[in-house]
Amino acid sequence: MQGNVIPKSGEHRGADPNMADYEAERASFTWEKARQALDGLPNGGGLNIAHEAVVRHALGPRRDHVAIRCIGRHGERLEVTYGELDERSSRFANVLSALGVQPGERVFALMPRTVDLFVAAMGTLKHRSVLCPLFAAFGPEPICQRMELGSGRALITTPTLYRHKVAGIRERLPELRHVLLVGQSAGSGAGPEGTLDLDGLLVEADADYEIGATDPEEMALLHFTSGTTGKPKGAVHVHDAVVSHYATGRIALDLHADDVFWCTADPGWVTGTSYGIISPLVHGVTVIVDEGDFDAQRWYETLEREAVTVWYTAPTALRMLMQAGASMAKEHDLSRLRFIASVGEPLNPEVVVWGQYALGLPIHDNWWQTETGGIMVANYACMDIRPGSMGRPLPGIEATVLARDENDAVEVGADGVAVEAGVGQEGELALRPGWPSMFRGYLGNPERYRSCFVGGWYLSGDLARRDEDGYFWFVGRGDDVIKSAGHLIGPFEVESAMMEHPAVAEAAVIGKPDPLLGEVVKAFVTLHAGYEGNEELRLDLIGFARKRLGAAIAPREIAFDQHLPHTSSGKIMRRLLKARELGLPEGDTSTLEVRP
Ligand code: ATP
Ligand code: MG
Repeated sequence: MQGNVIPKSGEHRGADPNMADYEAERASFTWEKARQALDGLPNGGGLNIAHEAVVRHALGPRRDHVAIRCIGRHGERLEVTYGELDERSSRFANVLSALGVQPGERVFALMPRTVDLFVAAMGTLKHRSVLCPLFAAFGPEPICQRMELGSGRALITTPTLYRHKVAGIRERLPELRHVLLVGQSAGSGAGPEGTLDLDGLLVEADADYEIGATDPEEMALLHFTSGTTGKPKGAVHVHDAVVSHYATGRIALDLHADDVFWCTADPGWVTGTSYGIISPLVHGVTVIVDEGDFDAQRWYETLEREAVTVWYTAPTALRMLMQAGASMAKEHDLSRLRFIASVGEPLNPEVVVWGQYALGLPIHDNWWQTETGGIMVANYACMDIRPGSMGRPLPGIEATVLARDENDAVEVGADGVAVEAGVGQEGELALRPGWPSMFRGYLGNPERYRSCFVGGWYLSGDLARRDEDGYFWFVGRGDDVIKSAGHLIGPFEVESAMMEHPAVAEAAVIGKPDPLLGEVVKAFVTLHAGYEGNEELRLDLIGFARKRLGAAIAPREIAFDQHLPHTSSGKIMRRLLKARELGLPEGDTSTLEVRP
């Protein structure tokens, strides 16, 4: 897998990459310089995300530039300029003030992907209360858990979501003082008891709002992790994170002022906020927001009609597009696309190569976490791609792979410094703390936070290796790695090999306890249309995997499963497959995707 290289694209479709040379940028980059590209609040008032994302554009030449183009479920389009977003979010901030919500208090948004969500997000940040976006498809329990943990003071939602998901848990949330409903249709009378009509309040509110002095270390965002490996954790981020959002947008997503940018993640997850809202707005580009759900045809139409130039999506979505066939991609004019990036899960080399063939562009994988707040390791426009690699650390980020001892703990030398793994050796992916968007805590769990820092590094919990040129290769999550007969097996490698078989659309691999070998590899595979999961195919898949991976690593067992469990942010939940396989309790399933 390491042998293939996709050379960096030569002509870059009309825009030279912001970063021309990786080594040179790495040598000259400092966070302080990145910070200077932002405006800061007037009169030394500090740094506020909403000021950088909206106010400074509204005060300058980009005032009438389209900030958001929202596509409704039925295709209706709504555009909002930077000037309009500024005014509406100021009204929102004034509404919070009038209600007595204090800076630092948590404002939850349980909202579909609409303009109102952007208004609430930017208004909350202007007001210096803390934005906590929730995924609108969550049921009442996950909402209640998160709002309790975050001591939510205010909630912005729609009448329907309120009725179905919040009304029943309201009395369990004594700290929740204000529920603001969006889209309470005019003339429908008063809303449910204990709610306020946000649209009405916005009309009455003052359109000017002066952002108060904001310490860059003030809490700005509370994001819950995806719950892929266990109970979701609440990661705390501060206003200074905007420096990372700006720098990564410039370097890793290659955003240019005239770009039309589409991030397909829901703002209920960190990607959808950091890169669906903040980073592109800081760059003053036009953001596409699609209220609808995944549909291959709809997505291609959106890319074509909206003339999307930079597209940030996820492996699961790309695998689903692959399943729909390259011919569907080729029926659309995607010539405006310049850069495609992916995050959230390992991106199989097969998918990178497919992108090149079907979309005419390679897919640039990048790696980060809710905790890191922004992109940490990436493939860049100016750098050759090694399909299957996550790329190299962002300039300004020091990343490494740490050696692990026989108990899977990071090895720390007598000097208190963690031992780095050699080239090609597997170990824990770790980052040197100190970048602006690093989380400042897990809300309500200081011990867990402290345990993430060992021997001078932040431990990501993921396993990786580094090649001789400094490219990072994902091996698996610490919890998902399989130990069989003394081998350490990363699920990603096995899954990627399975995906090279023409019948396989998606694969998930777990370790199954075995008295002799410790664990044996079991693969669950989803088949492409037209294939039947029979004994013949099972044997063929096992033989295919053995040829590619060797008998020690290839799966011993294969199960056909057309509905692998995913989180609602699109990640395969291997822990659930394992629990089901072993008849164990399923644990926290609040983020499990529910298929209609
Ligand atoms: P939880 O921490 O609750 O189990 P989670 O780790 O899935 O959930 P996120 O913060 O949303 O929550 O996801 C970050 C994780 O996703 C990373 O630690 C990594 O395991 C995986 N990931 C993200 N990007 C990539 C990538 N490009 N390649 C491989 N894995 C990735
Ligand atoms: Mg995690």
